[in-house]
Amino acid sequence: TVTTTSTSLLADDDAVTAAPSRHRVLTGDRPTGPLHLGHYFGTLRNRVRLQRLGVDTFLVVADYQVITDRAAPGEIAANVHEVVLDNLAAGIDPRRTTIFAHSAVPALNQLMLPFLALTTVAELRRNPTVKDEAASAGVSSLSGLLLTYPVHQAADILFCHGTLVPVGQDQLPHVEQTRQIARRFNDSHGGEQPVFTEPQALLSPAPRLLGIDGTKMSKSRGNAIDLRASEDDTARLVRRAVTDDERVITYDPQTRPGVSSLVLTAALATGQTPESVAEGIGPQGSSALKALVTEAVNEELRPVRARRAEYAAEPGLVERVLLAGAERANAEADRTLQRVHTALGMKY
Ligand code: ATP
Ligand code: MG
Repeated sequence: TVTTTSTSLLADDDAVTAAPSRHRVLTGDRPTGPLHLGHYFGTLRNRVRLQRLGVDTFLVVADYQVITDRAAPGEIAANVHEVVLDNLAAGIDPRRTTIFAHSAVPALNQLMLPFLALTTVAELRRNPTVKDEAASAGVSSLSGLLLTYPVHQAADILFCHGTLVPVGQDQLPHVEQTRQIARRFNDSHGGEQPVFTEPQALLSPAPRLLGIDGTKMSKSRGNAIDLRASEDDTARLVRRAVTDDERVITYDPQTRPGVSSLVLTAALATGQTPESVAEGIGPQGSSALKALVTEAVNEELRPVRARRAEYAAEPGLVERVLLAGAERANAEADRTLQRVHTALGMKY
């Protein structure tokens, strides 16, 4: 029998920080457009922090995941470019993080088949994030690609034996599905040594940042403040953010989502607690809060935006980063596929 140390879905941040070398991070984005504050506070800052702690990191740009529901064919390459620039600008260092496009690593798609064999259609249909994605993309007939999105993600995570996945709230069902696939693969085909480790999700203090309309900040909803936005555009967007009629600012995400999201944004950008930000503004009301948010966000993003402009002006940079990343990711994925073939008895 195989003995695996079982872990919970959610990683404990302090434990990770205390022993970073035990971990490998898999993280990534779908190339649906430029990244926004939700991505930044929801996962990017965690990625950069873990990279700086020395955690070996793989970053996938999940291009196959956008071909049915989101991007028009002509947009994908430009979107991949933007997403890579956003990550580099946020502090991801391609010498320490392996950045690659899913489509550049063919073994990932081979891993999908045995993983699909370990997944039921009922499980996929129940996945709340698949349901949301299908609804928000306006897909009337759910494609097989979109339905199996959590399984692509399992391949993305398991190919490099990622132990830690810094994500927003919406990705938790996928990480759970990945854990199940890893467990089932080990149970069915593991032999002496488990082939896969069950990964854990790492949530940030902003697992679901709201946009200026008070719903989840999202590229598709037009409610986002992009990392690459100008300072003036940032100010304009923050001014339009929904608040409420109560004059005194408090932090109460349940009953005052709009105001609280602004408070949280200012808190994250300035390194304070949301409570102390709310207390500091108090009776000065929402226009003072918005002024603070604008200033805090613009200040936090000033170096990010400056680096972004620099990298964007460097010809061939993104292409070189993706090429080097694909080489390392392919070596890793080929090794994993070999192990999977061996475990499945597919050695001829
Ligand atoms: P969007 O939701 O803006 O359309 P997306 O779904 O195309 O973006 P993903 O590539 O799915 O973007 O998301 C990348 C990562 O960013 C995921 O870990 C996701 O959980 C996280 N994320 C996206 N939006 C938010 C948000 N508003 N708050 C916190 N985390 C977020
Ligand atoms: Mg999403």
